[in-house]
Amino acid sequence: MAKVKKAGAVRVARSGKQAKAKNAPVGASTGARKAGGRKRAKGKAGNRGKVKVGPRRPVPASTFRVTALDPQKKCGAGTSVQQLFRINEELADGVRAHLVFFDRHGWYCEHGRDCPAVAPAKKFSQKVQKVQKVQQVSVMAHGNSGSNGLTHNGRMRA
Ligand SMILES: [Zn+2]
Repeated sequence: MAKVKKAGAVRVARSGKQAKAKNAPVGASTGARKAGGRKRAKGKAGNRGKVKVGPRRPVPASTFRVTALDPQKKCGAGTSVQQLFRINEELADGVRAHLVFFDRHGWYCEHGRDCPAVAPAKKFSQKVQKVQKVQQVSVMAHGNSGSNGLTHNGRMRA
């Protein structure tokens, strides 16, 4: 609950500043500006509630440790392999190593397409791509909101 207190303090300080500047030209627009500030704070609280995404997933019988390898280093510069992963499957009685490939034929392990190491390799690859996408998006969003705030303040729409 300490977080809520903090957010409120920030909002009050900000809207107070704006209200002061706004009060001089037109009184009516102050109310609109205040409502906007309140709305924004509400959205923040909503986001905070959403953040309970835990790494919960079913635990498999054996653990797969995935390491991304460079296919060209491993298979040669002319290789058609686009992705290559080394999978260490940790079993109760030891570790079993896999090499999982992805090329135009799809995913397959050195032990065959149905090897259980194919799934974690696929998942790993998708996760990496997702993370890269998220980072790009968040950078863009940050830039946008920054410039938006500037124009908003500069215009001071009456
Ligand atoms: Zn395998």
